[in-house]
Amino acid sequence: DDDQSVIKSGKAKLDFEEPQTTPNGDRIWLKTTKVPLTDSQGNTIGILGTYEDITARKETEQELRKLSRVVEQTPASVVITDKAGTIEYVNAAFARLTGYSVQEVLGKNPRVLKSGLMPEDTYRQMWSTLVSGHEWRGEMQNRRKNGELFWELAVISPLTDAQGTITHYLAIKEDITARKQVEAVLLAEKLYSESLIRSLPGVFYLISEEGKFLSWNKRFEAVTGRSAEDMAQISPMDLFVDEDKQVIASAIQRVFTHGQVQVEGRLVAQDSKRIPYQFSGNRILVDGAPCLIGLGLDITDRKAIEDELRTAARTDRLTGLPNRALLLDRLQNTIHRHKRSKDSKYAVLFLDFDHFKTINDSLGHETGDQLLREIARRLQTVVRSVDSVSRQTEGNTTSRLGGDEFVILLDGLRHEADAQQVVERLLDVLGTPYKLGIHEVVSTASIGIVTSEYGHERAEDVLRDADTAMYEAKLAGRGRAVVFDGSMHERVRRKLELESGLRKALEQRQFVLHYQPIISLETRRLEGFEALVRWQHPEHGMISPGEFIPVAEDTGLIVPLGEWVFHEAVRQLAAWWRTHGRDAVPSLSINLSRKQMVLTDLPQHLLAIAQEAGVAPAALHLEVTESAIMADPNLAHQVLGQIKQRGFKIDMDDFGTGHSSLASLHQFPLDVLKIDRSFIANLSRGRDFAALVNAIAMLARNLNIAVVAEGVETEDQMTMLQSLECQMAQGYYFARPMPAEQVAEYLAKTPH
Ligand code: C2E
Ligand code: CA
Ligand code: CA
Repeated sequence: DDDQSVIKSGKAKLDFEEPQTTPNGDRIWLKTTKVPLTDSQGNTIGILGTYEDITARKETEQELRKLSRVVEQTPASVVITDKAGTIEYVNAAFARLTGYSVQEVLGKNPRVLKSGLMPEDTYRQMWSTLVSGHEWRGEMQNRRKNGELFWELAVISPLTDAQGTITHYLAIKEDITARKQVEAVLLAEKLYSESLIRSLPGVFYLISEEGKFLSWNKRFEAVTGRSAEDMAQISPMDLFVDEDKQVIASAIQRVFTHGQVQVEGRLVAQDSKRIPYQFSGNRILVDGAPCLIGLGLDITDRKAIEDELRTAARTDRLTGLPNRALLLDRLQNTIHRHKRSKDSKYAVLFLDFDHFKTINDSLGHETGDQLLREIARRLQTVVRSVDSVSRQTEGNTTSRLGGDEFVILLDGLRHEADAQQVVERLLDVLGTPYKLGIHEVVSTASIGIVTSEYGHERAEDVLRDADTAMYEAKLAGRGRAVVFDGSMHERVRRKLELESGLRKALEQRQFVLHYQPIISLETRRLEGFEALVRWQHPEHGMISPGEFIPVAEDTGLIVPLGEWVFHEAVRQLAAWWRTHGRDAVPSLSINLSRKQMVLTDLPQHLLAIAQEAGVAPAALHLEVTESAIMADPNLAHQVLGQIKQRGFKIDMDDFGTGHSSLASLHQFPLDVLKIDRSFIANLSRGRDFAALVNAIAMLARNLNIAVVAEGVETEDQMTMLQSLECQMAQGYYFARPMPAEQVAEYLAKTPH
C-alpha cells in the first residue's frame, strides 16, 4: 500500500523505523526510506528503497531515556551547564532543594545560589580545576530562593566531546545541611566546655568516703579563706551555712550510693558572705577506694537573675506592689506561723474602690492608672506607719489583685482588734480627694476584714472571705469597713443553694401565694388583697421572697416565676368572684419585678391571661417598685403606658425608697402610691415624718393618685394616718398575709 501511494503521488518520501526479526532470529531495528523514481517527463516509474540497521542507536536512546528517568528521580540535585556556565538542565531534586522552579533557572548561571558566605577563593579554585578537565569536589554554603542558607556537597565534572573539548559541566550535589548543623553544635560544645573549665570560678575537690578532702584546687582555698592545713582537717559540711549542712551531707551520701548527684548550697566565704554554688559529684575509684570527685560553680549571677524573674512575675506592673501570687504566698506563710504560735495574729483587709470604673471610663485609662498608683502610694504610707500595732512591719504586705482591688496583710498583730486602727486610718486617708492633673476625684474604699481568729487554713479562703466581707461593706453603703463573720459564709452558701433549688421548685410547684388585705381607712372595708409569693421548701420550710426574689432576678428565673404568680393570682381572684361575688374582693394587687418589665410582649401577655380567666384588667393592680421605675425611667414610662392602656391599674410600690422626686410622679400613669413601711414605722418618732406623709398624700390627691400606707402595725399608726388623710392601709395590724384557704373565713368577718 505504501508503495502504491508513493507511486501515485510521485512525491512522498517515506521514512520510518521499525523493529524486524532477521531470518536467524535476531531482533534488529531497521530504518526504511522510500523515494519515487521518475522519468524525464516526470512520470513515476518505480521506487527506490534504502534500509539502514539502526539497532545500536535505538539501544543508546533507550539507555538515555532510562538514565534520564533515574536522574529525575534521584534525591541528589543535578545541574548541567554549557561551557559558559549557562544552565541547560536541572532535575526535580534541584528545584525542591533550592526553591527555584526548573523554568526559572534554565538559561541562568548557578551563581544565583551564591550565599556570599563562601570565600571567593573556593570558586576560583573550583573553576581552575574544572577547565583543566578535572573533577572538583567540595562543600558549599548556598542560599535558597527564600533566602535560607543550606550546605551542599558538590561533585562537578566536565563533559567532553569526541575531540576531548569541554562542552558541558555536570554537577551532582547532596544536601548536607543537617550534618553541618550537628558539626557546628559539636564544635560549639567543645569550645564551650574548654572555656568553661578555664574561665569559670569553679572549685574542684576530691573527697574520701570518710568525708575528708583528699585534694582541691587553689580557688577553693581562696573562696573559703581556708588554708591548705585547714582544708585537710575539716569536713566538707564545715564550709556551708547552717541551713544547708543537712542537704549537703545527704548529697555526699548519695554520691556513694547512687554514683552521681547535683546539689545547690551556700558556701561561707572568707568575709562570711554566703555564696550560692552549684555542686556536682561523681563516684570514682582512686587506688581502689571509692571517692567523690566534683566541681562547684558560683551561681550568684544566675540566682540574682532567677530572683529578679521571680519578683517580676510576682509584681503588679502598674503599681510595683506584690501581686496576687506573691500575696497568697506570704499569706500562707503567715497562716503557718499563726498555727505554730497563736501569739502571732494577722488581719487581711480587702479594699475595693468605689466609682473607680466611672472615673476610668470618663477620664480615660491614663487617669485611671494614675489614680491606682496614687492609691498604692497612700496605702503604703498608712501600712508603713502602723508599727504601733504591728510587731514586725516587714511582714506587712500591700498588694494589688488587679483592677481596683487591693489587699493589705497585717502580720504580727498583738490583738486582732488592732486591725481596726489601721482600717480607720485607711478610711480617713482614702477619703481625701485625689488630684489627677486638672481633675479632682473622690474614690472612697469599701473594706472587708478577716482576722486570724477564724482559724483559716488556706490563703485562698482568707481572700475569698475578705472579699465577701468587702461586698457586704459595699452593700452597707460604700466607704465602710465590715468584719467577716461566719453568717456571711452561710449567706453565700445559702444563696448558691437557693439558685440551684429555685429551678426545681418551679418544676415541682413548691410556690404558693399568700394574700394580705388592703383596707380603706375611711370605711374600714376591704379594698383588695396583695398577692405575695412564698416558697414552701421541702427541707427549709417557708422561705421569704425577700430572700429568693433577688436570686430569681439574678438568674432570670423571675420571668417564669412571675408568670406563674400572675396566672395563679388571677385564677384565684376568678374563683373568689365565683363563690363570694365580685364585690367581696374588689381588686387584687400583684408584684412585678423590674426584670419582667423588659419583656416587650408583657402587657399583651398579661391581658391574655386575665381575659382567659374572665377577670377584668381594671380589677388588677400591678405593683412596680419606685426603684425599678427610677432605674430606667424611659423604659418604665413606655411599659407602664402600655400596661395602663390595656386597662390594668398601676401602683408604685415602696415609695420613698427609690429617690424619685415628688415632682416627677406625674410623668407616670399611676393609680396608687404605696408609701414604704419605713416611713410608717417612723411616724411616731417625729413630726417631720408625719409632715412628709401628709405632703405626699396631698400631692397624690392633686394628681388623682390614691395612697396606701404599708406596714401598719399599731392602732396609733392607723389613727395618725387617718388624720394625715391617707386613704388606705395594709399591715399586720389588720391582717398578716394568709393562705387562700383562710380568705373565706376572713371575708366572713370583715365588712365589705
Ligand atoms: P412588698 O411588695 O413591699 O410586700 C410587702 C411586704 O411587707 C410583705 O413581705 C409583707 O409580708 C410585709 N408586711 C406586710 N405588713 C407588714 C407589717 O405590718 N409589718 C411588717 N414589718 N411587714 C409587713 P414579704 O411577703 O416577705 O415580701 C417581701 C417582698 O418580696 C415584697 O415586698 C415584694 O417586693 C417581694 N415579692 C413578694 N411576692 C412577690 C411576687 O410575687 N413577685 C415579685 N416580683 N416580688 C414579690
Ligand atoms: Ca408589693
Ligand atoms: Ca411595698
